[in-house]
Amino acid sequence: MQLDTFMKKTSLFTALFSILLLAGDVSAEEKVIKQGKNLVSWQEDETCQFVFFAVLEGLYRDGVQNDIVDAIIGGEIERKADKVKTHFVFRCELCHATYEAFRTYRNRPLFMQTNKASTFGEGVDKKILGKLRSKDARTRIYAMGGLVRPWIMHRIKETRKTPEEKTAMKKIFLDYARRGEEYLSAHQKAKDGFYLDWQFYGSCQACEAAKDLGKAGF
Ligand SMILES: [Zn+2]
Repeated sequence: MQLDTFMKKTSLFTALFSILLLAGDVSAEEKVIKQGKNLVSWQEDETCQFVFFAVLEGLYRDGVQNDIVDAIIGGEIERKADKVKTHFVFRCELCHATYEAFRTYRNRPLFMQTNKASTFGEGVDKKILGKLRSKDARTRIYAMGGLVRPWIMHRIKETRKTPEEKTAMKKIFLDYARRGEEYLSAHQKAKDGFYLDWQFYGSCQACEAAKDLGKAGF
């Protein structure tokens, strides 16, 4: 009987939660339609979710400091679209997943009864801040990649992927990298000021995880 009540409560909660999610989606969609843009759908993709959790987990495990997160997701930049562009390729789904993980972490709550603790690790070397704030795109993006790419590799190891799964994953990352390059070149052709100096391969650090897999022999 108790289990039955629990199940009823759980399904009611699930239903309510779904309604809330749907309501959230509708208003977000209306907002986007008003802005005349298309919705991005990274969140439905398994690889994007993998990258999201890898980054979120890495941020918590290393206890990355807020000023470092702000330097990456553009806390000091006013226009919302430009915030993404400091370190990521706008509209690239894997970049979007990475960006959202940083954003989620930045909005994390404090743990209860812990004297304001909100994360696990000791933090990373603050020297990275200078590089993350660099005007040179390559310096900036590779500094961010130095954090993100080991987190992705860590999760690949942690989830004990088989050699076949690793090879398949590398192929998916390479596909994303190719699409990311296409987005980047489209942004450059549109003379988007943020991207004009991104004249190097490796625009997308999440996509570049493919290289790390390659080095590991997959
Ligand atoms: Zn990307």
